[in-house]
Amino acid sequence: MRTISILGATGSVGASTLDLIRRNRDQWRVVALTANCSAHELAALAREFEAEIAVVGDDSCFTDLCATLSGSGIEAAGGREALCEAAARPVDLTVAAIVGCAGLRPTMAAIRQGGTVALANKEALVSAGEVMTAAVAQHGATLLPVDSEHNAIFQCLQGGRIEDVRSITLTASGGPFRTWTHERLAAATPAEAVAHPNWDMGAKISVDSATMMNKGLEFIEAHHLFPVGLDHLRIVVHPQSVVHSMVEYRDGSTLAQLGPSDMRVPIASCLAWPGRMDTPLAPLDLAAIGSLTFEAPDEDRFPATRLAREAVHAGGAAPAVLNAANEVAVAAFLAGQTRFTHIAVVAERTLQSYNPPAPAALDDVLSVDTEARTRAREILETAAIG
Ligand code: NDP
Repeated sequence: MRTISILGATGSVGASTLDLIRRNRDQWRVVALTANCSAHELAALAREFEAEIAVVGDDSCFTDLCATLSGSGIEAAGGREALCEAAARPVDLTVAAIVGCAGLRPTMAAIRQGGTVALANKEALVSAGEVMTAAVAQHGATLLPVDSEHNAIFQCLQGGRIEDVRSITLTASGGPFRTWTHERLAAATPAEAVAHPNWDMGAKISVDSATMMNKGLEFIEAHHLFPVGLDHLRIVVHPQSVVHSMVEYRDGSTLAQLGPSDMRVPIASCLAWPGRMDTPLAPLDLAAIGSLTFEAPDEDRFPATRLAREAVHAGGAAPAVLNAANEVAVAAFLAGQTRFTHIAVVAERTLQSYNPPAPAALDDVLSVDTEARTRAREILETAAIG
């Protein structure tokens, strides 16, 4: 039996992970399950999976959690520190699936206990970059990529040598607005943005897919996970989301990983790594799919990938600034406070207005994140943007 903790257990990645654990209950013992404020949902999961501890990050939801767990014998905790303490409990595998930079400290706590971390929380790696990769090396931890693209690349690299790689290509679905004009994009609603054509995901990443910022963040994530050099990383739009990414070797061979667009496939690859496990998914039927198409990204309508490339080329704190500004702008868009097309504008203006020194430690990253959020909110409030 292996032990597992799931940070962000009540989310979309959390649910997909727990679905696989539910089908293999005899193989896993659940240690910590966490949420932000979904106390009732978290308590139900903790009871079902007989977790050791359930934690809500938002203190104000702790009373609810305690009430719903009463009599269960399951430990309950609340608050930011409690999240980190739970994440630091030694386990065989931690699934880091909190959304946003809010997941950074708990993910770093898991890394510091030196185990294996299946990383879905891309914003944490984008923001902390070298601070996180240095901690992984220092504590002897292992990062397994959950993101379907990075998991695909990870699989295509098995048996290969990174120095033999000529290029890595991330595929992007193009999101729900792939064919929309500028004018239509400016009027896009939150409901339209979260209706992804291929994937069923949380609200924030769905909006990121629609702006293509998700691919921009993934570009930065790939840079940290697969050190082939920025000039060897590419993005191609592939609307069917069947090819999850590709690795081209120096002899001209390109290896790709294909599969259904269901997160249980890459999550299963992490749960069973270095082996394989069953998933309940129908086999890929390529004849029924018929054709796979590819096209270049349009950075005029979707500038986010350009912003991400510029941020990672600039290095230092720029990716953390970009991520924080994007989180603020996406939250404002989802709350109906700003236009879809303003998300990239806020990100770009925040990057232009704030250029702090490169973070050397976790606290520096968190300070950059806080200040970038303040600046992004100010930019959002200016008449030109609002
Ligand atoms: P969801 O919004 O569905 O779930 C987010 C989870 O994080 C919930 O458990 C939520 O708790 C918790 N959470 C939110 N805010 C905080 C906070 N401030 N402190 C502590 N916990 C918090 O997100 P997804 O599952 O879609 O995405 C999770 C991560 O995985 C993201 O980084 C995303 O980019 C990445 N990812 C997601 C994919 C997907 O298919 N969904 C695919 C690839 C990557 P609560 O329920 O209480 O709000």
